[in-house]
Amino acid sequence: IKNAVFETSAVDFAGVKAQTKNLPQVVFVGRKNVGKSSLINMLCNKKNLAVTSSTPGRTKLINFFRIVSEKGEFYLVDLPGYGFAAAGKSEKIGWNDNIGNYLMNAKNVRLVFVILDMRIEPTENDILCLNFLQANGIPFAIVGAKTDKLSRSAAGLHAARLGGSLGIGASDVIITSSKDKIGREKIIEKIFNN
Ligand code: GDP
Repeated sequence: IKNAVFETSAVDFAGVKAQTKNLPQVVFVGRKNVGKSSLINMLCNKKNLAVTSSTPGRTKLINFFRIVSEKGEFYLVDLPGYGFAAAGKSEKIGWNDNIGNYLMNAKNVRLVFVILDMRIEPTENDILCLNFLQANGIPFAIVGAKTDKLSRSAAGLHAARLGGSLGIGASDVIITSSKDKIGREKIIEKIFNN
């Protein structure tokens, strides 16, 4: 990744179509506070490219960052964070809202990174999201975030448990920490080799 700049925010899918160019898209999705913005910042080697939750604002929008790489340009797309489904029915991802609608309609999506918290079981919305991606044949990869909050041995166990509950191997969970800059190369490799 040679350069990354914020390009535009869209409020809905119509806005996405009107405001963006015909470039491949790599999408980041996950629940609020899981560390999605921090991960995007780490990936792009920029401190404040994606707004982190301490400064809310762009969080409900679909944000587009244009990435220039040796292999060409693409968009890194930051979807709104979803809530815990347990917090109320309205927090459950519906495929009419921005997240579902976007994924259903976007034609240029090459890969979706689903960001999960390493420390807990996937939430109901995480599962809804993964099922949706699977059902629609959209390529995705699982990222376990904030691994620095676990010891090394616990991180391995948690990755195995997370993988187990999703029916994938522990090694298919990309373990990351934005705080300790872990996992950047693995994510980049996944983007370019997908
Ligand atoms: P988002 O809502 O998913 O975009 O999450 P943010 O990136 O804004 O992060 C939410 C909170 O988690 C912030 O207080 C971050 O500082 C913290 N955070 C994010 N990534 C990490 C990480 O890798 N390790 C630790 N320990 N904290 C993190």
